[in-house]
Amino acid sequence: MFKKILIANRGEIALRIQRACRELGIKSVVVYSEADRDAKYVRLADEAVCIGPAPSSQSYLSMPAIIATAEVTDAEAIHPGYGFLSENADFAERVERSGFTFIGPTPDSIRMMGDKVSAKQAMIRAGVPCVPGSEGALPEDPKEIIRIARSVGYPVIIKAAGGGGGRGMRVVHTEAALVHAVQTTRAEAGAAFGNPEVYMEKFLENPRHVEIQILADTHKNAVWLGERDCSMQRRHQKIIEEAPAPGIPRRAIEKVGERCAAACKKMGYRGAGTFEFLYENGEFYFIEMNTRVQVEHPVTELVTGIDIVQQQIKIAAGEKLPFTQRQIEMRGHAIECRINAEDPVKFTPSPGRITTWHPPGGPGVRVDSHAYSNYFVPPHYDSMIGKIIVHGDTREQALARMRIALSEMVVEGIQTNIPLHRELMADAKFIEGGTSIHYLEGWMAAHKR
Ligand code: ADP
Repeated sequence: MFKKILIANRGEIALRIQRACRELGIKSVVVYSEADRDAKYVRLADEAVCIGPAPSSQSYLSMPAIIATAEVTDAEAIHPGYGFLSENADFAERVERSGFTFIGPTPDSIRMMGDKVSAKQAMIRAGVPCVPGSEGALPEDPKEIIRIARSVGYPVIIKAAGGGGGRGMRVVHTEAALVHAVQTTRAEAGAAFGNPEVYMEKFLENPRHVEIQILADTHKNAVWLGERDCSMQRRHQKIIEEAPAPGIPRRAIEKVGERCAAACKKMGYRGAGTFEFLYENGEFYFIEMNTRVQVEHPVTELVTGIDIVQQQIKIAAGEKLPFTQRQIEMRGHAIECRINAEDPVKFTPSPGRITTWHPPGGPGVRVDSHAYSNYFVPPHYDSMIGKIIVHGDTREQALARMRIALSEMVVEGIQTNIPLHRELMADAKFIEGGTSIHYLEGWMAAHKR
């Protein structure tokens, strides 16, 4: 096992990784920007090194600064967390070339999944169900594009191979708009992602977002850890996640979960990963794979009792998965609310000093956050300042615990989306379960938001 790990991230996930290291008896080094000098994980760290000014381009995205810090602190491995450099194949490659272990998949896996066209082709080969669409990238010939769209059936969505973060997509409803839409998306994709390749998919009108968590070791073992429903989204940003996904037959989930685990074995995938699907009319359709730990991993941890971050570290150290698929048991229900420093109505960021921070507690309540009273939320980064995660024997109990947790939570000095979460936890449709990815935006329009 490693003696020391460098954490190349910030915020709640830096603290989460630090806790995993501590439990495994591993020392951790955190890197931080000048804006994060007073952060909790910096204060609690075994070692902390300032790697640059506030803008992430000069700190958390600076590969030379991070690798140099690993060298001077004698770290053996680098955990990238989520966001920042976590899905950057060049970074993973530089880490390994410099003699460190990258806590994540191989650079080749990251590269393959980072290109959505090659990712989808790999999934089709591995028997994972995908959204019907073009086979690979769209050709230049307009006639050919029209032919493909006719066979897929309107509406279609044109997506950039190199896209991410909900950008580089365009929905097309009629043949008249098709060729122009493809050209525009291509031009935008070339400018934004340096890759003009685009592909076509059937546009699903009212799907849910359901994803499968997997773990794979370097000894040809791969397991799936159940699913998460992350349909509560605004502008493709998830705000509430839960496990299991309400109302989907277990057999259907098992079938797709087994396919995902089999795909990992086939691809020689290692580490933690998530297969994201749209789910509509009883069918799963793969959209992308995330090759890192996700924000919403705790809901899976609470229902399976498996520490995903510790498993990532153990897999990177070459250990075998300590359980087989049959030994994984799902118990109860978990829900996560992401707490963002933002106006709960207008969603504008609300950075600044937190004067009071009073997190909830009690049975089945977990709070993952780096915030505290008197903590200054810097304006330079993502607005998420923490997560409340609850677990109950049933979904009803989890919902009740989340309502209590949200009622206890006090954050003063800045605005947060806690009032929005309180309303959503009392919303009849959410309580019923199974709302689509468009539900929240419709709800906001109906509530004049
Ligand atoms: P990104 O990497 O930018 O997040 P994804 O491929 O994961 O891109 O898609 C982001 C979101 O776009 C999905 O969560 C869904 O809301 C929407 N989307 C993508 N593909 C389709 C599709 N074929 N039909 C309907 N909606 C889609």
